[in-house]
Amino acid sequence: MKQAFKNIRIVMIQTSHPGNIGSAARAMKVMGLSELCLVAPKRFPDAQATAMASGADDILEQAMRVDSLPEAIADCQIVIGTSARSSRSLQWQLRSARECGAYVAEQSQDKKIAILFGRERSGLSNAELEYCQSLVHIPCNPDYSSLNVAAAVQLMAYECAIHINNSALATPDVKQEPVVDNQTMEQFYQHLETVLQEIRYLDPDNPKHLMRRLRRLFGRIDIKQSEMGILRGILSAMQGRKFQKRG
Ligand code: SAH
Repeated sequence: MKQAFKNIRIVMIQTSHPGNIGSAARAMKVMGLSELCLVAPKRFPDAQATAMASGADDILEQAMRVDSLPEAIADCQIVIGTSARSSRSLQWQLRSARECGAYVAEQSQDKKIAILFGRERSGLSNAELEYCQSLVHIPCNPDYSSLNVAAAVQLMAYECAIHINNSALATPDVKQEPVVDNQTMEQFYQHLETVLQEIRYLDPDNPKHLMRRLRRLFGRIDIKQSEMGILRGILSAMQGRKFQKRG
């Protein structure tokens, strides 16, 4: 199995019906994906999940189970949200499932990617979308665009797998410096927000959408560990102190 498959994590958030978790596990396994993460599932483990998983109970057994989204994506460099809607008021970079499959195939060679799936009733919350650098929508009937969540997992897994299998992309032979993970980005955003308040660029009583827009901006680029050191160093210098590098 190509490394790219192992680098894709399917994250299901607060899934209500255990049958959907089982169906998603099956959908993943048939396409060659294996990493499932469940964020605060309503009922799990559950006989319905096992029944719907059919022969994919190994995916359920190995599934990570966490209480919050940051835990699910802490070690991921790319976080993609799925949306049943094709537009949102504040624009994230939006890809079709097909475009996203090509993007994931390319990026998953050397980066860990999380694809987030929302609740059956309400999808992903705005707070959860803040963690995403981009969104993906499965194009369908505009008057009836909400798929069952396990069906959405199936389609996304298919698009990713088809592109990985078809990809003639050579594995990069030069070891490149890795891109920072989500936990590091969150620490950066917290530091940035603090400094922006200290220098009075950001008014906490009237923040508008500044942090969201900055997340969009920094989310579009691949920041390497050494570059993050520079950014944190600049922020610390603005605060008049030295940034202590970890590790
Ligand atoms: N009413 C909710 C729909 C939730 S459907 C909403 O408006 O967001 C449950 C989940 O299935 C979604 O959170 C998403 O992860 C996935 N999903 C359903 N339809 C989709 C589509 N057309 N494109 C991408 N993901 C979809």
